[in-house]
Amino acid sequence: MAVPKKKTSPSRQGMRSSGKHVHVDNMVLCNNCDNFRRPHHMCLHCGHYDGRHVMTTKSQKRAQRALDGTEST
Ligand SMILES: [Zn+2]
Repeated sequence: MAVPKKKTSPSRQGMRSSGKHVHVDNMVLCNNCDNFRRPHHMCLHCGHYDGRHVMTTKSQKRAQRALDGTEST
């Protein structure tokens, strides 16, 4: 296994991770809810991808529970 010769300084780590931000210019609008989402990713607001509902988000589950009246707390 290759082993690094020197310890990565906090400055180096910061410089490396500065390029890893999710920029607003790299976001697209969701066709279902018009919120920003990452391209080629499921919408985190409504759980839609490619025009299909693929996942129920936490907030949707919470809203459904409130509607059902089965909130235990
Ligand atoms: Zn959406």
